[in-house]
Amino acid sequence: MSGSIKTVGVIGAGTMGAAIAQKCAQEGFRVVLNDRSATFVERGLASLEKSLAEGVERKVFTEQEARDIRGRIHGSFQGADLAPCDLVVEAIFEDLEVKKAMFARLSAIVRPDTIIATNTSSFSVTELARSVSNRERFCGLHFFYHAAKNRLVEIIPGMDTSRETIQALKRFAFESGKDAILCSDRPGFAVNRFFVPWLNEAARLLEEGIVGEDIAAATAAIDVICQSVFQIGMGPFALMNATGVPIAYHSERTLEALGEAYKVSTLLRDQASKNEPWQISTAPATLAPDAEQTIRDRMLGIVFFVCGEILAEQVCTAAELNRGARIGLAWRKGPVELMQNAGKVEVDRLVGTIADRYHSTVPNGLQHAFEPMQFVKLDQSGSTAVITFERPEDMNALNEVVISQLAKCFATANRDSEINQIIITGSGKAFVAGADIGFFIKNIRSGNIDRILSFTERAQSVFDEIDHSSKRVVALLNGLTLGGGLELALCADEIYALPGTQLSFPETGIGIYPGLGGTQRTTRRTGKGIAKYLIFTGDMLKAADAAKISLVDRVIPRDEYFEMLQGNLPGVPERQAAKVTHPWNSIGQLFAEVPVAKLVSNEPIADGLFSDDVERLRKRVRQKAPLALRTAERLVEEERGCASELEFLPEIFQTQDALLGLSSIGKKVTFTGS
Ligand code: NAD
Repeated sequence: MSGSIKTVGVIGAGTMGAAIAQKCAQEGFRVVLNDRSATFVERGLASLEKSLAEGVERKVFTEQEARDIRGRIHGSFQGADLAPCDLVVEAIFEDLEVKKAMFARLSAIVRPDTIIATNTSSFSVTELARSVSNRERFCGLHFFYHAAKNRLVEIIPGMDTSRETIQALKRFAFESGKDAILCSDRPGFAVNRFFVPWLNEAARLLEEGIVGEDIAAATAAIDVICQSVFQIGMGPFALMNATGVPIAYHSERTLEALGEAYKVSTLLRDQASKNEPWQISTAPATLAPDAEQTIRDRMLGIVFFVCGEILAEQVCTAAELNRGARIGLAWRKGPVELMQNAGKVEVDRLVGTIADRYHSTVPNGLQHAFEPMQFVKLDQSGSTAVITFERPEDMNALNEVVISQLAKCFATANRDSEINQIIITGSGKAFVAGADIGFFIKNIRSGNIDRILSFTERAQSVFDEIDHSSKRVVALLNGLTLGGGLELALCADEIYALPGTQLSFPETGIGIYPGLGGTQRTTRRTGKGIAKYLIFTGDMLKAADAAKISLVDRVIPRDEYFEMLQGNLPGVPERQAAKVTHPWNSIGQLFAEVPVAKLVSNEPIADGLFSDDVERLRKRVRQKAPLALRTAERLVEEERGCASELEFLPEIFQTQDALLGLSSIGKKVTFTGS
């Protein structure tokens, strides 16, 4: 496939296909949605239109946007209509022979370089690839229900899939708003491999009668325990009811060959053959403490056991495995985090019990769950190093691990004499959406302010190295750039942003101030007035507005973003004093000339002199934490360098406003100034 994917074919307009088509069209791709006959195409389009109408109702899109999305989708039952597609995603019945026959027909229709992807949940990608010509363009692309909403996608290369195909699909995943994990072609790939046995284990517990004879009370009790242990909204039985019990049964059947731990529960088989949902009572059975412990141990044990196998077989990395559960299944913590929290001794006990019970060996991949997950990646192409934050499940937020990995990647690239340009970017929806708030709250509550201080000092020193690097450092902003993320970008020589990027300094709205150079480097780029405006109001700026105040150098289209990632950077732009136009010039003037004490007071400010929006801006500033505002003002005014930000940190993190603000993100709070 030369060039980027513009037109996507989706074969099968059922549950998955219609939603995949919707998501692709939502992200701007042209789509051909194909099924066996006009009736099936119409049914698929009708479900897609219903989903769009729900989106309009929930204000996800406007009516016009929904019409535009629909306008990009062409329904068809003629195979020939798929000929112009750059990518075709297959989402037809899970039947090996039907899929193979369809691929053989398809590869005679599309271009020899059209990428062909399968959404199969259970068949080998390598085996399916045998049905197409040019197997190097064939790959697994496994979406998750509901494919228009769930951000996870697994990319599963077969034995013959080329590097170019994988790259093109990674880019497609990014452009279609998905977070991709790369998996090897093993049964169940990554997520279903542990999730389906988890469902099955619940059915096994039920079958064993551990919870008592009343099935409906027992399913409810198991669900309640799982909800609490895994911190999830729905337990295994409720989940099976939502997706259909037969899907769980068929998925587990495809894993059975992996060993006794995966053997299908008889009760699950019977329930699937009846094609009825589980009875779940509103009154869960009361359990004896040992029964409760057994359920907890078995449900955690099966997940840890299978994850140990996944890591041993290198199906994906520990970070990807964890991400799969967080994003694909909406688990609050992924299995790797759960293992790290439980500790090695407890994990060994739980996995040992499962291995004994199912006459299996303890998998030898468990130790990987106790190594730090890799959240920052360094790639090299020619003389360009690309550092990517890969923690989309947490919006690439900075914490101690992320900072130390960034330090390592940057130092490696910086000392490499072959590298002369270093690009920093993010994956998923965010570039970097600030620092881990949970880390701050935990340390404030335990009185461990020193730990916050040392984290900030360490991050400042890494940022200084980036700022003072002799190499050309470019920040490529791919999405949300907040707080510490914006401070990091400001260390680069150039900042380019995708059109959807949003930038903000939210700190004073959560009781603190920017402490990673934000009060100093923003001034350097935009001047004092605009720096104070950004920090005092926390206004969220679109990339185009950020360019107007020189916070970013230029807004770039997607194609240019990907070109840059390949190392094809434009010439170094000449930095001239930007001509700031209305209203930004008067906003800058307002914040440069009026002290914060006056801004938050009710004293009148000469109207017409500054922005038309003075009162709106003052209202925004009044909502912020007073001490944070005053400290930020002082830091900007004194301009004593980034280290000056450390001086007031212990004081600010010990205020009641800091704890209130940090623990009330997204909620309206009234700061007290104490
Ligand atoms: P579905 O039964 O809802 O839809 C399948 C569609 O394929 C039907 O509309 C059918 O008419 C059409 N079809 C069948 N043969 C065809 C052919 N030869 N040409 C054109 N269209 C054809 O199935 P689904 O749930 O959407 O699953 C589709 C695929 O996605 C399966 O491989 C399944 O394993 C996989 N998958 C499903 C889920 C899920 O939650 N449902 C999740 C991930 C992956």
